[in-house]
Amino acid sequence: MPEEATTKGRVVLVTGGSRGIGRAITERFVAAGHRVAATYRSGDVPEGALPVRCEITDPEQVEQAFTTVEAELGPVEVLVANAGITRDTLLLRMSEQDFADVVETNLTASFRLARRASRAMMRARFGRMVFISSVVGQLGSAGQVNYAASKAGLVGMARSITRELGSRGITANVVAPGFISTDMTAALPPEQVSEYQARIPAGRLGGVEEVAAAVEFLAGDQAGYVSGAIIPVDGGLGMGH
Ligand code: NDP
Repeated sequence: MPEEATTKGRVVLVTGGSRGIGRAITERFVAAGHRVAATYRSGDVPEGALPVRCEITDPEQVEQAFTTVEAELGPVEVLVANAGITRDTLLLRMSEQDFADVVETNLTASFRLARRASRAMMRARFGRMVFISSVVGQLGSAGQVNYAASKAGLVGMARSITRELGSRGITANVVAPGFISTDMTAALPPEQVSEYQARIPAGRLGGVEEVAAAVEFLAGDQAGYVSGAIIPVDGGLGMGH
């Protein structure tokens, strides 16, 4: 297969492309010459990407986002479900709403995106789904019962999708970042950041571009035999799971 011809110019949809990891992923795909759409709620998306306003917890807005991308760029071939939130607090204090909001955004919306994307991917007999999970999904984390549950759920989802759609040229993988410098980690108390940093074999927080590099690999034609995998980008923090 002529790699250059097929790897270039895929239609890519990244959720949460306005900030942090999603922004870096969007920039990387644009730089590689793909046709990229990025969702946002506030702010903007990187130059060169099609901006699509979308609240991913709203099924109608997700449907509309796909319709827009299909009209402007074509059917989505690479889905990067990146948008996510935290509502940290200890189990005893965690409200039903804290739990539901995080699961709705991080897990249910990813299911919604994957289901919608799968239609055209099955037709094309090609697709790449990448779910941005977290090291916390396997390691657990005090104060993040909701977040860890949602991120672990993505693993079961990607593996089930792999079993359903693996024979049709579609892969579904999970990227599990550790501590990456973004707005999300900037919100953590400094003592918690230094405590984590001491536990990271690499001795530092990761950069958003290091996560984007793993996503780009999984989206490529050469990664067609990698599916149902968890790719850690965590400086060794989660080793052993
Ligand atoms: P940020 O908080 O910097 O950015 C989150 C992005 O998600 C924003 O673009 C935000 O849009 C979007 N978003 C959140 N909720 C919704 C929603 N309901 N509908 C549409 N868009 C939404 O996060 P990061 O870049 O740090 O994290 C990105 C992903 O990586 C998340 O899934 C996170 O859990 C995961 N992750 C991050 C780690 C880290 O250390 N930073 C570690 C491990 C995993 P808006 O700007 O409009 O709010």
